[in-house]
Amino acid sequence: MKLVLLGPPGAGKGTLANLLKDALNISHISTGDILREEMKNNTSLGKQVKQYIENGELVPDDIVTKLIESKFSGNNITENGYMLDGFPRTGKQAEDLDKILIKTSNALDYALYLESSLPVIIQRLTGRRICRNCGALFHIKNKPPKKRGVCDECGGEVYQRADDNEETIKTRMDVYLKNTKPIIDYYEAQGKLRKVDADKDAQEVLEILMGVFNES
Ligand code: ADP
Repeated sequence: MKLVLLGPPGAGKGTLANLLKDALNISHISTGDILREEMKNNTSLGKQVKQYIENGELVPDDIVTKLIESKFSGNNITENGYMLDGFPRTGKQAEDLDKILIKTSNALDYALYLESSLPVIIQRLTGRRICRNCGALFHIKNKPPKKRGVCDECGGEVYQRADDNEETIKTRMDVYLKNTKPIIDYYEAQGKLRKVDADKDAQEVLEILMGVFNES
């Protein structure tokens, strides 16, 4: 299965990706996760993208497209299928992705559009917490770690992303509406778009999607 996950910040792309990864045994490629790892390791790429990310703005297209290209060429990471999360985010990225996929014989099956409403998004993002070590996701109300500030999975430090505050969330939503929404039309025109109500619980969303896959 070859998938792209689309939807506003907070629609639950990361949570769903973790469930789909296990259900379908495919690679999860998240540009946000890759860039945060670069920032954590203070690499030159990490330093280059820090300001954009902390302000909730998009990192320039060529930087992220190069990252994605490197994932698709060389190693076997996409052998069993893949799920792109956080990419493409602009029309240019969508077009460049198609070129990469054609070149590497990895054409997409579906673009899954997770639709979510603003109050749900804000509640999810402001309460979201992440393990600095293994990336496990928590939520202060919906899924708190058993011990405050400590990851249930690996004992790592649980922290709040610098861009998960209300002001930056607003910028990210504006950026999403301006740049990313047109991509929905792009995949609709290709007949690859499948919409799902992502205000629902992640497990329920997973079941709906498995139904979609089985239909085809
Ligand atoms: P979200 O929770 O908002 O979906 P992500 O973890 O996917 O966030 O991305 C966090 C930030 O990383 C974005 O706000 C943006 O600055 C940067 N980023 C991630 N993917 C891309 C991309 N494809 N193009 C440009 N910037 C990106």
